[in-house]
Amino acid sequence: MADACSKTFKDLGLSDNALEAIRGKGFDEPSPIQALTIPLMLRNDTNIIAQAQTGTGKTAAFGLPLIEMVDTGAKRVQAMILTPTRELAIQVSEEINSLKGRKKIITTPIYGGQSIDQQLRRLRKGVHIVVGTPGRVIDHLKRKTLNLDSIDHLVLDEADEMLNMGFIDDMENIMAYTNPDKRMLLFSATMPHKIKELAHKYMEGYELLSVKKAPLTTSLTEQIYLEVRVSEKFEALCRIIDIEDVFYGLVFCRTRSEVDRTAAHLMERGYDAAPIHGDISQAQRERTLEKFKQKKSNVLVATDVAARGIDVNNLTHVINFSLPQDPELYVHRIGRTGRAGNQGTAITFITPNEYKRLMFIQRMAKSDIKKSRVPTVRDIITAKRKKIHDDLVAVMGQNPEKQYFDWAKKLLQGNDPTDVLAVVLNYCFDEELSTDSYGVVNEIEPRTDDRRIGQQGKTRLFVALGKKDGYNPKKLVNLIVRRGSIKPGQIKEIRVMDTFSFITVPFGKAEKILNSFQQKNQKPLITRAKKK
Ligand code: ADP
Ligand code: MG
Repeated sequence: MADACSKTFKDLGLSDNALEAIRGKGFDEPSPIQALTIPLMLRNDTNIIAQAQTGTGKTAAFGLPLIEMVDTGAKRVQAMILTPTRELAIQVSEEINSLKGRKKIITTPIYGGQSIDQQLRRLRKGVHIVVGTPGRVIDHLKRKTLNLDSIDHLVLDEADEMLNMGFIDDMENIMAYTNPDKRMLLFSATMPHKIKELAHKYMEGYELLSVKKAPLTTSLTEQIYLEVRVSEKFEALCRIIDIEDVFYGLVFCRTRSEVDRTAAHLMERGYDAAPIHGDISQAQRERTLEKFKQKKSNVLVATDVAARGIDVNNLTHVINFSLPQDPELYVHRIGRTGRAGNQGTAITFITPNEYKRLMFIQRMAKSDIKKSRVPTVRDIITAKRKKIHDDLVAVMGQNPEKQYFDWAKKLLQGNDPTDVLAVVLNYCFDEELSTDSYGVVNEIEPRTDDRRIGQQGKTRLFVALGKKDGYNPKKLVNLIVRRGSIKPGQIKEIRVMDTFSFITVPFGKAEKILNSFQQKNQKPLITRAKKK
């Protein structure tokens, strides 16, 4: 892996034409999944499954080798790329076009919603690479306007998403139209069991390439979580947006109706927000996305599926308004910020009873999610005032028109200058700095509160030390307190047996203790107690 990361594009065996196109795109070095996939694909002797999270350059990982391998002398379709959505089909097709350099490769996207005649004309003229959504591809196959029986490559892009969207039958249907000796290449951000089943069924032998974590993406993303009541999530969201100088972010909701509600609510409060999800027409989705890309709106509220097609760099924030269903989805969501060398913040809202799930996600996603608190109204006003102040200081050297000088003189006549300025500032900024528009966010009781023990948030731990190791309850507590950032009083129900012990600690502390008792190459001293 380490050497895969330090490779250059040239090392991967790409042609000068490709290298030039890559330079033109401004890519400095291959991403890890590109470093793994490109040489293997160029060898052209195996099927491939490649897994890496969103935003890691999977398109170029298969796009570049496909471009190299297309024979421009032959007019047949040589590669078929399936994508789950129309946006992605367009995006992938554009990315390939932007990487082809001087090679005369013809690529076309075909998708539902666009006139079939137009697509027909393009297909008839001869196309080397087709990028399409399953439904429309089947239409063309049935009409015999698309022929896939002598392709070299079938690419399933965002395969997990295609399965999520219920395209399995369509995919199988399409495969039946293809020649059996093609290579199959499957790209996916996540690797659910269904993908392995698919591979087992249709890909006789394959190499599995996987980049578990994309350090480039996540290391630039600060991850925090906030505990908020459901009824106060919206207020918390507004505050997070308001406290930033610049907010340009994605807000993830679990359901379409939650997306609609949240976006509508934001718009009512004067934010440039927009919803995006599967019930919204393709055309509208494209318009919304374009507006967001041009920064005419700065808050995009989305479901996971709809967000999949969104390729936007420079996001300052990803907000998990609702906790993602699983760790992979979490990694996926937050991978959208902190891209391309930009700093980003991922903020996850949890309700008090979602704490356990968050800790699970944290463990599985191997991330460090730090607790933070919702900004207070005072924090926000202070931040806003600082921004106004900095703006004013920045324009201080400028020379306004004469009329303003005359006006200033008039106001200053017979008045103390400080009084005058105070009144003017108040007049200009009173509304902006008013606390009236904010609602209430209640502090949630700290989780480590002892009263919680004996209620829900407690964890029973097994300690591989006992009387024979010289431990009694007091000594055991001391050991754990020294290493585990926990107070003695928080360790309860201590049972020291001959060779092992049990303790009970608050849920929030358990994770820390488990981590600090990890040992290299050995079973950890402390583990979760097995349920009886
Ligand atoms: P994925 O399919 O893994 O989600 P994409 O292929 O959509 O990712 O790529 C995400 C973004 O990263 C695109 O804007 C792409 O142009 C850019 N990109 C791809 N490879 C590189 C690279 N080696 N260096 C810099 N940017 C890259
Ligand atoms: Mg992709």
